[in-house]
Amino acid sequence: MLKTLGLGLVVMSSFLLSGCNDKASDDTGAANTQKQQTYQWKMVSTWPPNFPVFQDGVERFAKDIETMSDGRMKIQVFAGGQLVPALQSFDAVSQGSVQMGHGAAYYWAGKVPAAQFMSAVPFGMTAKGMNAWFYGGDGLKLWRELYEPFNVVPFPMGNSGVQMGGWFNKKINSLDDIKGLKMRIPGLGGKVFAKAGGNPVLMSGGELYTALERGTLDATEWVGPYHDERLGLHRAAKYYYAPGWHEPGTTLELVVNKTAWDGLPKDLQKIVETAATATNQWMYAQFETLNLGALQKLQQEHNIEVQYFPSDVLAKLKSLTDEVLAEEAAKDPEFARIYKAFQEFRGRIDAWSAVSENVYHAANSKPLVTQEVKQILQQQ
Ligand code: CA
Repeated sequence: MLKTLGLGLVVMSSFLLSGCNDKASDDTGAANTQKQQTYQWKMVSTWPPNFPVFQDGVERFAKDIETMSDGRMKIQVFAGGQLVPALQSFDAVSQGSVQMGHGAAYYWAGKVPAAQFMSAVPFGMTAKGMNAWFYGGDGLKLWRELYEPFNVVPFPMGNSGVQMGGWFNKKINSLDDIKGLKMRIPGLGGKVFAKAGGNPVLMSGGELYTALERGTLDATEWVGPYHDERLGLHRAAKYYYAPGWHEPGTTLELVVNKTAWDGLPKDLQKIVETAATATNQWMYAQFETLNLGALQKLQQEHNIEVQYFPSDVLAKLKSLTDEVLAEEAAKDPEFARIYKAFQEFRGRIDAWSAVSENVYHAANSKPLVTQEVKQILQQQ
């Protein structure tokens, strides 16, 4: 803004002094035309209409941009299926039929397997690590490289925090209890679950309650206490397990068509980027706040006792995760390259966490969790 004002003043004074300066007048004219231009964009998402936090965040983001740009940029938001099917939103942005989309990078695993590192991988990083990798490390740079061939620019925009391990109709005391278990668990988590002897099932959120209640499913993961309680999953299965080893801090994404992005004036680009960063923080705060309230409700009103996966089950799932990721890396050099960068950053942040958050939580947690964290610390 200051720079623009400065340019305007310089041009005005040169006009007054010399009477005419065609070049400067033309440039200012072009800049003013761009300033007066209104950008009407369309944005699609992968979420159902009114889906709390997820779609709410997208609507909020669009309003923020309109306010910050003083109405110069207006974004019309469409939920999944309203303009294009939810899982075609990335293609719509890539092809330029819409300018923006919101979803999660692991939905595009079929197209870009390495993109899964930009949302969540089993036993990956939490929100703290993901945000540090994107904004402080090279995560965002690598992400931009991955989407470049699709003419798409990505931004982190939301994080679910650590998800829950899911609802089970029986207790998981050992790995044997997973054998043959039909569980809705998508993506790489599903591949690990299959290696552990389980039977991963793909199913959309709207079908989960009925499938679990009727026994078509033995178990399902969804998000966290808030979204799980809204689906009524506590009425369909008794045991609610922690932690969500398969989704420890799922990052959501804003994707922008690169041609449209390049056509935006610099100040509107900065507004979009800033609104995405603010929404990233807002959604994460919403998940955390709503989850803690819902957990309390599940425990106090619905008598749900949270169960913890036994340490040896988690250790096995972790070693199976290493196998799955190594297999994926062997199939795809790009996956191998991103996996290496992810592991490198994660190793460093784990070492830092071992003397910061882990020790703090171990000192400050309830006895049960302290026990678990102590075991993990001893293994490091
Ligand atoms: Ca999930």
